[in-house]
Amino acid sequence: MSEEKSLNFIEEIIEEELASGARKSVVTRFPPEPNGYLHIGHSKSICLNFGLSAKYGGTTNLRFDDTNPTTEETEYVDSIKADIKWLGFEWTNELYASDYFEQLYAFAVKLINKGLAYVDDSTAEEIAAQKGTPTQPGTGNEYRNRTVEENLDLFARMRAGEFPDGAKVLRAKIDLASPNMHMRDPLMYRIKHAHHHRTADTWCIYPMYDFAHGQSDSIEHVTHSVCTLEFIPHRDLYNWFIEQLEIYPSRQYEFARLNLTYTVMSKRKLLQLVNENLVDGWDDPRMPTIAGYRRRGYTPESIRVFCDKIGVQKRENIIDLSLLEFCIREDLNKTALRRMAVLEPVKLVINNYPDGQTEELMGENNPEAVDGGGKRKIPFGKELWIEREDFMEDPPKKFFRLGVGLTVRLKYAYIVKCTGYKKDEAGNVTEVYCDYIPESKSGNDTSGINVKGTIHWVSVKDAYTAEVRLYDRLFRVEDPNKEEGDFKSYLNPDSLTVLPAVYIEPSLREAKFDERYQFLRKGYFCLDQDSWTDKIVFNRTVSLKDSWAKETKKG
Ligand code: ATP
Ligand code: MG
Repeated sequence: MSEEKSLNFIEEIIEEELASGARKSVVTRFPPEPNGYLHIGHSKSICLNFGLSAKYGGTTNLRFDDTNPTTEETEYVDSIKADIKWLGFEWTNELYASDYFEQLYAFAVKLINKGLAYVDDSTAEEIAAQKGTPTQPGTGNEYRNRTVEENLDLFARMRAGEFPDGAKVLRAKIDLASPNMHMRDPLMYRIKHAHHHRTADTWCIYPMYDFAHGQSDSIEHVTHSVCTLEFIPHRDLYNWFIEQLEIYPSRQYEFARLNLTYTVMSKRKLLQLVNENLVDGWDDPRMPTIAGYRRRGYTPESIRVFCDKIGVQKRENIIDLSLLEFCIREDLNKTALRRMAVLEPVKLVINNYPDGQTEELMGENNPEAVDGGGKRKIPFGKELWIEREDFMEDPPKKFFRLGVGLTVRLKYAYIVKCTGYKKDEAGNVTEVYCDYIPESKSGNDTSGINVKGTIHWVSVKDAYTAEVRLYDRLFRVEDPNKEEGDFKSYLNPDSLTVLPAVYIEPSLREAKFDERYQFLRKGYFCLDQDSWTDKIVFNRTVSLKDSWAKETKKG
């Protein structure tokens, strides 16, 4: 079982560096842009960054990459911090790229002074046109020949707010013929008269990602700056700025982002779902956000185990959502309290159970725990709720539940034999009748009768009512990112089913927000934040089995 886990490629690099003495410790960072809530993809990056520093005795900073004032908000900063903590990680320093604005400005001035940056008055379209194509070199323009003095003056005036948005940009002067398009005089600064969530109105010029990220890494002496594969073409520029500025040599390493089936992950798309009310906010339990998984009942442990299982690759791939579901099942199986709830009820009446008699049965809280996790009391009586699907008028051969003449065990209680049923005018079964076998009580069964099936139940007289929310995949196609047209047209219309009146056993009346429950045969559940004293709402975290796997096998 305890097979030695192989190193991921970044760990291999680090171990070589440590072995050769090229490095003594590692400094990593997790650099979210506060323009949305964290999603499960971010947790891969979080586990990797915090995992590296934990393993090799280093530090990990939380750095908000907040260089884009128009999309960033304090609400997102707060949610990001809460989510990282919930996942179980502690950052060394909480830092903001916006704290470096003055330093970044000075870096830009240094490049101007070295003749390596210039102010360009061209429009975005002109710049794009002059950039050339991957097979054709770009063409310069008259601004490229501006003198250092002129550039210093114009850049200072950009900062001073003399020009409107879009009037000018600061560009690095590198190589218009470079095979790497990112090296063809990339933008460093743009003018944006916008309010920033931290620096307010101090600035009207903002650095581009490429002129902020690497420099921030360098300022923090980040040793291994890990990011996703789409930044590979940015790496030359990352290194160029650091070399020309002669600052601490942070290095960038790229890994494959997490993609999950039946899921969209980009914050831009998730924001659309929120803004268009297609989900109930960022923490809707169907959302792939950390907040959504938390509300749905996922544990931090299950997400960390998932990230560990998927590993760190250098190639794009897509992970099956059922692996994540497997991880939460494994975890909850160990910890969830076993309870009974009848989701779609029909009444079962025990003919030969004395009227008015009740019994208090005992049920283990968790058979997976060494001691059964302690026991709870479960009231039993003449009338019980059972699942409608556990009775059939014309049961097929291998139906090991109820039908006239069939026998089952009522969990924790007795064996019963079905004797008949009643229907209303519309033809719906309203009551099912049975006889119980008094000698067959669980734990003290002397009946000698063998039954194949066991069903759950709730005593009618003692039942409480709860609302139960069942969730299915948010999208009905495996990869909504690859489909034609609007990704929102691939939403699964059945992703949420609300059962307004589910019968729950009385001990669930004391359900707690931090407990997890297994409703026997029905899945894992947790209390939803919409619950209050007189209303109990449960979310189904995940079913007990992977129902989609069955369907594909069948189909
Ligand atoms: P999105 O495209 O979802 O908006 P992003 O990359 O713009 O994501 P950031 O806030 O910039 O989001 O990301 C913070 C960190 O998390 C970055 O280092 C980024 O590479 C990483 N990250 C984002 N999405 C994923 C993912 N799906 N898998 C792994 N890492 C990710
Ligand atoms: Mg980003």
